[in-house]
Amino acid sequence: MAPTMSVDELTAEYGQMIDKMRKTFDTGKTRNLWWRKQQLRQLIKMYQENHEEIGATINADMGGTKMRAMGEIAPVTSADDCLTNIDEWSRDRWVGGLFDRQYVRPEPKGVVLIIAPWNVPWQLTMRPLTAAIAAGNAVVLKPSELNPRTAPLMEKLVHKYMDPECFRVVQGAVEETTALLNNRWDHIFYTGNGQVGRIVMAAAAKHLTTVTLELGGKSPVIVDETAKIDVAVKRIALMKWSLSGQICVAPDYVFVHQSVEKDFLDQLKAVVISSTGEDGKGRVDDFGMIVNEKHVDRLENLIQTSGGSILCGGAEGIEREERFVPPTIIHKPKMDAPIMQEEIFGPILPVMPYEDLETALKIIRSKDTPLAFYVFSQDSGNIEKALSHVQSGGVCINTVFEHLLPETLPFGGQGASGMGAYHGKFGFDEFSHRRAILVKSTLPGMRGTLFPLPQAGKAMPQ
Ligand code: NAD
Repeated sequence: MAPTMSVDELTAEYGQMIDKMRKTFDTGKTRNLWWRKQQLRQLIKMYQENHEEIGATINADMGGTKMRAMGEIAPVTSADDCLTNIDEWSRDRWVGGLFDRQYVRPEPKGVVLIIAPWNVPWQLTMRPLTAAIAAGNAVVLKPSELNPRTAPLMEKLVHKYMDPECFRVVQGAVEETTALLNNRWDHIFYTGNGQVGRIVMAAAAKHLTTVTLELGGKSPVIVDETAKIDVAVKRIALMKWSLSGQICVAPDYVFVHQSVEKDFLDQLKAVVISSTGEDGKGRVDDFGMIVNEKHVDRLENLIQTSGGSILCGGAEGIEREERFVPPTIIHKPKMDAPIMQEEIFGPILPVMPYEDLETALKIIRSKDTPLAFYVFSQDSGNIEKALSHVQSGGVCINTVFEHLLPETLPFGGQGASGMGAYHGKFGFDEFSHRRAILVKSTLPGMRGTLFPLPQAGKAMPQ
């Protein structure tokens, strides 16, 4: 729905909201550890009392299984993790000093903006929110307009359960986000595509605001000649076709060693057919919907222009009304085809054979730094070679996607796939300023200055 106010009017309105929140922040309310813990508990309570409605709303917006919707409830464990560790994370850290005391104090940044995408709407809003609360910030959330049922529910629940002086949800699309970005923030945390990431960063630069950019990209997979093919197939298939491939760390394309190529493709095809049936059509209830028709068209075009052979699925299986694109394997697409140039973000998997690992790694390295990189191998030499030749936000060996689950690992990109990281303590740090504090002794005998003060009429010692 188009906004009834102009961008300038929205900018002014949001400006007033941010001013009020900053005044609350300045009272020290959000720094209080008791308050932070209480807000984390409220977040957990919000999930406990509403998880069925949240799940049903996500399924209504995006299709998919109940299991998919349950996956969105993971931030509860993040909130638990924050509650367990917040005392430790937020304490002053003594770092040294002989005639002084030096320590680092993690301090909240202030009033922060979290802009979320549509593909995993609760988790990608609530997990950063959890970290921002733990670090003691006031937060404005901007869910994606492409989740027409989920965004209003988020607004209703956050405003009901969380401290209204410190947490606000602003719904809207480009105009509203533009108006939010016209204002000054103390940090902006954006998850989405790199094009908008650049808009966010340019807006932040005007106020020298720090940013976290959680972006995407083409996450490649290597399956070498020593890989356990059955394991590789199952793990790649699960994450490529869950949520119809609309996951930022979904395997984007596979390089498989030519000696195991046939076995890999036969098994992969068999797994797809076991899920979709022989007609290869599959069901929205199992795989999830493509977010909108524009993306269905985009994916159809990627298939039709790939220049490779379709081993299963394909454009004929597209059900436009249901926004369904079938799981599709494309063998040997053209390397200059759009499917090998842009992030697929859909249920299409290009597979290419390779003869020599270094050549495959060189092709991967010639593209933007991916968010994730996956290697299936039993050979530590090959694994190390892959790790040292290709940069990425994160890596999984012999699996995909799982590095984003534990709170113990930082999750974030590098270069075109983003900057900054979160999850667990890394999220707390991302939303904190590390303040250096030095307390100098004034005891007798230590009352001098670091250098002698200039004395009138006397030369300074050299
Ligand atoms: P999206 O279209 O929902 O956009 C994200 C946010 O940006 C939304 O809130 C939207 O309102 C806002 N926005 C859109 N256009 C804007 C504009 N012109 N100016 C200001 N704000 C604007 O989501 P998307 O970008 O389509 O999401 C998919 C992308 O996100 C993929 O590239 C995917 O890899 C990436 N992603 C990354 C992660 C991660 O954690 N790194 C997670 C999920 C998705």
